[in-house]
Parts: sequence; structure tokens; C-alpha cells
Amino acid sequence: MTCSICGKKGKLEYKKEKLCDGCFCRIIEKRIRKNARINKLFSKGDKILVQGDLAELVLKDIIKGLPVKIFKRKAVNKEFIKKNKIDKIVVNWTMDDEIINFLKNFFDGKKEKKDKKVVKLLKVVSDEDLKNFSKIKKIKFVPNKKDKNIVEMVEYMAERYPDTKEKLLNSAIALGKMGI
Ligand SMILES: [Zn+2]
Repeated sequence: MTCSICGKKGKLEYKKEKLCDGCFCRIIEKRIRKNARINKLFSKGDKILVQGDLAELVLKDIIKGLPVKIFKRKAVNKEFIKKNKIDKIVVNWTMDDEIINFLKNFFDGKKEKKDKKVVKLLKVVSDEDLKNFSKIKKIKFVPNKKDKNIVEMVEYMAERYPDTKEKLLNSAIALGKMGI
């Protein structure tokens, strides 16, 4: 199979297109960069705590040239945040996490508790795409545990309706902006 962008050998699938490793990574990075740019996720002088290797790699690529300070921890620690006056926390949180959490809150009739410091940099990319991305970049990525019933439901819908996950993500973002 050949990559539909550059014509090289490609075996990865992204939105029904075959891609080579290089083009696939560039598309994923572009999506994440766009999320950071449009939502103005980072600014000069930020003290950023990053959770996990994947978020660190992506963050370093995004903040090129922007003077910020990066701290890395496996888990988010309240004391550490206070002590180091952390402004932003980049969490290991994907499109799947956002969708499943959105639906879980919806069915449970709960509101999402928001922490202004938390930055969901990776939420525009699915677990599967991030798994492939991490494999190519040779870094460790462990997706968060999720509600099994809701995962099954979403996967069932995703097989039958194109762009199910993107549509759910957009709904979650739109409702979030309305404060619902
Ligand atoms: Zn290619």
C-alpha cells in the first residue's frame, strides 16, 4: 500500500486514508498544534507541568521559541503544583477520554468539574492514533481506563457512522463553552 500524500510505502490508516509513518506523524502533530494555537493554550512565562512522555514530546514541539518552564511528573501532585507555582498542567487526556467522560457525565446527570490549570492538549486525537504515534516515536503511552459500557457503545456507533468521535467531541466542546 502506498501513502496517499507522498506515495511512499504506508500501512497506517487515518480517516480512511493510507499513510506512511512520516506523513501520519506530521498530521497528528499538526492537529495538536492547531488545538494549542486556536485555543491559545500556552503563553510566555508559563510554568507547565506535564504528565507522561507523550505529552512532553508533543509539548516541546509546540512551545518551540516560547519561553516557558516545563516540569515533568508521572502523576499530578497538588503539593508540587503549589510549591512550584505551576500555571498549567498538561494531562494525558485524549479524544476518547473526553468523549467517554462527556457521555458518562451526561448519563449520570453530572457536571464536569473544571480545573482552569488543566490543559487537554491531546484531546483532538484518539487513543488509537496516539498509540500508533507513540510507537513510531518510540515512547511509552498508556491510555487511561474508561467506562467499558460507554466505550462499547461509542465503538459500535463509530463503526456505523463516519466521524462519530469527532462529532461527539465537537458536541462536548460546544456544550462546555455554553457552560452546560
Ligand atoms: Zn507519506
